Amino acid sequence: MKNLSDIKETAIQAIRDCKNNADLNQLRVLYVGKKGEIQEVMKAMKDMSKEDRPAFGALVNEVKKEISALLEERKCVLEEKELAVKLEEEKLDITLSGYRPHLGNIHPLMLVQQELEDVFVGLGYSVAEGPEVECDLYNFERANIPKDHPARDMQDTFFINVEELLRTHTTAVQMRQLEQSQKEGKEIIKVICPGKVYRRDDDDATHSHQFMQCEGLVVGENIRLSDLKGTLLFMARKMFGENRIIRFRPSYFQFTEPSVEVDVSCHICGGKGCHVCKGSGWIEVLGAGMVHPNVLRMAGFDPKKLSGFAFGVGMERIAMLKYGIDDIRAFYTNDLRFLKAFNRFE
Ligand SMILES: [Zn+2]
Repeated sequence: MKNLSDIKETAIQAIRDCKNNADLNQLRVLYVGKKGEIQEVMKAMKDMSKEDRPAFGALVNEVKKEISALLEERKCVLEEKELAVKLEEEKLDITLSGYRPHLGNIHPLMLVQQELEDVFVGLGYSVAEGPEVECDLYNFERANIPKDHPARDMQDTFFINVEELLRTHTTAVQMRQLEQSQKEGKEIIKVICPGKVYRRDDDDATHSHQFMQCEGLVVGENIRLSDLKGTLLFMARKMFGENRIIRFRPSYFQFTEPSVEVDVSCHICGGKGCHVCKGSGWIEVLGAGMVHPNVLRMAGFDPKKLSGFAFGVGMERIAMLKYGIDDIRAFYTNDLRFLKAFNRFE
């Protein structure tokens, strides 16, 4: 059996040398645990005389207390050290400059689309969408452009097969809306159809094989050309400024009769003449007209009871005029320098 003073000495040394709490716990078990060395020494008491026992017991307890106190003291020191190491490891260097998250921005054509939607939803229109791969029926036939009609040459497009093609105008969506409304028994239609369209065009500064239109359609009782004019004047002022005026020039479209080209007074010079309006004071912005009776008839409506107007704007045209862009290809070539010019956050 070990001598009590030897135990005390080695214990004190071991505790001082201990480098972490896990080892310290083992020392606790080894010296002052239930089966530890101090307890072992206590067993010697049973062989002692009654007179010697109290003094021996007190001595052993004294040593036990001393070792326990040392263990506790060392524990505090080690815990403090461990905490300091942990804090050092987890230290956050807030002086490093951070990464700025890359924020995207809305494409200028979408800005125009959103603006047009705001204008027309405010007037009680709904917004309709349709497929970009469209049937000949809705793209041409229902729009009063039968097969072999020369007007089809103006809208040559990409055909998927004989009956399916990439739509050449969002008029196709109007035709679907007419058919749908007739089936549902609606007699008032107020809808705009924004979306991508396609033509077999060679790309240059003013032509693109893909572009965006926003067409509008109103059908109801007693809808007149003056309603069309009022609507378009309202739109022109919302899009180009309160002082704009518009004028109609006769034109021709298959699906409207009469048809008009619509000019808006130049928003740059106010009508005096500048390079944007090429000195005329007017800018051609869109085409419109009264819905052709054949179009209403083909959708199942009686053109004697109902009438309507339709219009179509090119969104690139609007964006180019509003933002002073001179090449339509800029919308589709994904040059970030161009797109970031429309970043409202910077
Ligand atoms: Zn001008």
